[in-house]
Amino acid sequence: MPSVTGEVNADLVVLGGGPAGLAAARNAARRGLSVTLLERRDHPGGMAASFEVAGVRVDHGSHRLHPATPAPVLDDITSLLGDDLQLRRRNGRLRVYDDWVGFPLKAPELARSVPTPALARIARDSARQPFTRRRDDSYAAALSSSLGPELYQAMYEPYAVKLWGLPGDRIDAEQARVRVTADTPWKVAARLLRRRPSGQGRLFYYPRRGFGQIVDRLAESGVEAGVDLRCRAEVVEVRPSLGSCRVVCADGFTVTGRHVLSTLPLSLLARITRPRPSRAAVEAASMLRYRAMVLVYLVHSGGRWTPYDAHYLPGPETPVTRISEPANYRDNPQDPTDRTVLCAEIPCTLGDDIWTADAQTLSRIVTDALRATDLPPLNVEGVVERRLPHVYPVYERGFQARLAGLEKWAATLPSVTTLGRLGLFAHDNTHHALVMADAAVGAIDEDGRWNAEAWAQARESFRRHVVED
Ligand SMILES: Cc1cc2nc3c(=O)[nH]c(=O)nc-3n(C[C@H](O)[C@H](O)[C@H](O)COP(=O)(O)OP(=O)(O)OC[C@H]3O[C@@H](n4cnc5c(N)ncnc54)[C@H](O)[C@@H]3O)c2cc1C
Repeated sequence: MPSVTGEVNADLVVLGGGPAGLAAARNAARRGLSVTLLERRDHPGGMAASFEVAGVRVDHGSHRLHPATPAPVLDDITSLLGDDLQLRRRNGRLRVYDDWVGFPLKAPELARSVPTPALARIARDSARQPFTRRRDDSYAAALSSSLGPELYQAMYEPYAVKLWGLPGDRIDAEQARVRVTADTPWKVAARLLRRRPSGQGRLFYYPRRGFGQIVDRLAESGVEAGVDLRCRAEVVEVRPSLGSCRVVCADGFTVTGRHVLSTLPLSLLARITRPRPSRAAVEAASMLRYRAMVLVYLVHSGGRWTPYDAHYLPGPETPVTRISEPANYRDNPQDPTDRTVLCAEIPCTLGDDIWTADAQTLSRIVTDALRATDLPPLNVEGVVERRLPHVYPVYERGFQARLAGLEKWAATLPSVTTLGRLGLFAHDNTHHALVMADAAVGAIDEDGRWNAEAWAQARESFRRHVVED
């Protein structure tokens, strides 16, 4: 919806229209609050949105709704999407030891693919593991001491360099805690062998018309409930005061709210808040880094490319980390049969060679990756690229002290609360973003006042989030 220049008041102003912002705005409007939501782009949905390439709905990289989604959130999404929310079986592949294995991993298949000398090293590491002192001075130290050097070097170190742009010894051990659920060889083995009755880990939910159908329905339902949803509304200034907060957009549109929920990157919020934060907080903000990502969509003519939903590429032979085929995530009779679209994810740093590469170069990087990993060639009919500036928070060693400084500053802002994946500098999934939104609106009392204690408790529970891949 186009923005109009003017000045309005609202009970709640929400900054950013990704899943966290949309869900918070919708929940608050359903409780009877007047809500304005400001989104910089020309459509809502954030990283969870879908769009169309060559007649195929595609996502911003591989997106699935995980079975770990809490029941109330899942029930809500089901009520919004009905039969369009499909329960699907995962069918991915992972490149390890120059071979393809099914992902999620299956023990016998993995054992067949791992060369005998490497298996011997894994066995040796496992035997030593109970006597190895657990270390937590870096991601590399934490995982090498728990999983053993062989598994760490083969599966985690090269992937870390690609995803976060840093070697494992410069990444904080916290990264291992939030991203690696099985952190000993025994837990890895148990995970591989366990047959979970519900198929947890092997199943996922996915909407018929792309992952973005979830945020599209959240947005529609929010507008129906009365949310004033404004796209192309880039927030450039936030001016909090006791009891209200004034928010200014790039086109001059201004809104004053009793409370503001910001899902913007925390470091961006620090840059645009007036009065300016202390020098220490500004410095901390400039040192908190996000990894960027270029998404390359290749149109392949001649029907489906493979039967798999995603190929995971942890190795150093290509900067591409994953190639997904969105049409394989769902059963949608409207998907074309004579072509398909692949989505290649290439993490990078703002302004580097990948970020600035043209479509032809990006297309070559992807086709080189296919060749280097024994994947079928493509009949490329077209290339579309998308650039996301803030994708992964980088948990460089020492980030916690900088983050704590910034959070301390944010906590002093009257009338402003930060949440969401970028607002909390967390790696969270969509279902976590939705949980945060529920908690944030729950912290607004019946009389419209912000309940800081309730929010502090909710924040503590978010620290236990573990990210699902
Ligand atoms: C490659 C990739 C794969 C993923 N896979 C999965 C998955 O399989 N399952 C899963 O559950 N999750 C997955 N995620 C995570 C999921 O996308 C996020 O958890 C979710 O989008 C976070 O929602 P959010 O609202 O917190 O943030 P975002 O979606 O980032 O939304 C923030 C919004 O703020 C807007 N904004 C920024 N600056 C301004 C400004 N100045 N003014 C106004 N608006 C602004 C942005 O445009 C954006 O719309 C994946 C993410 C990535 C990058």
